[in-house]
Amino acid sequence: MSLFDCALHNFMMHCTIPGSGASGLSSVGQEADISLHHPGSSEFESALERAWVSQLDNHSGALADYIPELGKANPNCFGMAIATVKGKLFSTGDVTVPFTIQSVSKAFAFCLALEIAGPEKVSARVGVEPSGEAFNAIVFDPETNRPFNPMVNAGAIAIAGLLYEHLGDKAFDVLMERFSMAAGRELQLNEAVFRSEDATGHRNRAIAHLLLANDAIAVAPDDALSVYFRQCSIDVTAIDLAWMGATFANMGTNPVTRALAFDLASVRSTLAVMFTCGMYDYAGHWAYDVGIPAKSGVGGGIVGVVNRQLGIATYSPRLDAKGNSVRGVGAFQAIADDFGLHAFDCTNVGSTFISSLLR
Ligand code: GLN
Repeated sequence: MSLFDCALHNFMMHCTIPGSGASGLSSVGQEADISLHHPGSSEFESALERAWVSQLDNHSGALADYIPELGKANPNCFGMAIATVKGKLFSTGDVTVPFTIQSVSKAFAFCLALEIAGPEKVSARVGVEPSGEAFNAIVFDPETNRPFNPMVNAGAIAIAGLLYEHLGDKAFDVLMERFSMAAGRELQLNEAVFRSEDATGHRNRAIAHLLLANDAIAVAPDDALSVYFRQCSIDVTAIDLAWMGATFANMGTNPVTRALAFDLASVRSTLAVMFTCGMYDYAGHWAYDVGIPAKSGVGGGIVGVVNRQLGIATYSPRLDAKGNSVRGVGAFQAIADDFGLHAFDCTNVGSTFISSLLR
């Protein structure tokens, strides 16, 4: 499908038109500087365009329909956004189309739990080792009986249980407030997706009961799940995810509103687990090829964090067999290559403190 065909199709499917605007790119300000003429803007714009165009004709993958409501997404939507720690936003394609955050929420919920419950209590319930298994696998660390990490369903439900244990019925509201602070606007729950997952999430219910049997949650399974299913059903856009990533990159403070959404030490720990576990059983490949902390969700979103610099987000709901957005993975690889974002890229010169000692 050509760029024009895709734009036409998306228009007919009520998505925004990719390539609208003279260059096909837009620099959008969310109370941010909307000037196109700040340093680096053309580099960001052209790199975004290259990454986005490189994946536009990639129609492989399929919508997640095991949550029936997710099967209603427009498979052709494709948006990409970069938010900087200086409060600038660059975007292309379908960046204002809402989709549910799904597993991307796991990174932010983990960060919140580290702050609310404290790192010791968190690590008593959930490990930080890659599982090498699918996101919904029913597997536990054989030595501890804990879920392997908080980025897969078992670990995320344990984290939701911990939030409920500490915050009770307010747990979801607190989580929503922090996610909104990170996004820089008030996010909303998608009731239809929540009801759809609540009605069909039998595997997650089974996991929650096993967590209780293993002492990895200390609340009723339904209370942990009521937080978990809701946190997965928050509507976001690619722009929201880019700001949420930029908030992590900016040590927990939203770069535009200056709201402190997450605490500093928790952000560092979260980025580490995103780096090793954020892409489920593709995490090794991702670290090898892209090399930045990231988290994906079956709604089609991926957020990546370039520490102290950028939040990057993609939205395209066709998923590969591991549950990652096909175009999202490709676009991230393209932009990481283009900008040398990989943690071990030769252009990353490391700590300025150590550099000063090497003189
Ligand atoms: N809510 C989804 C589930 O529990 C999240 C999974 C995902 O995004 N990988 O199945």
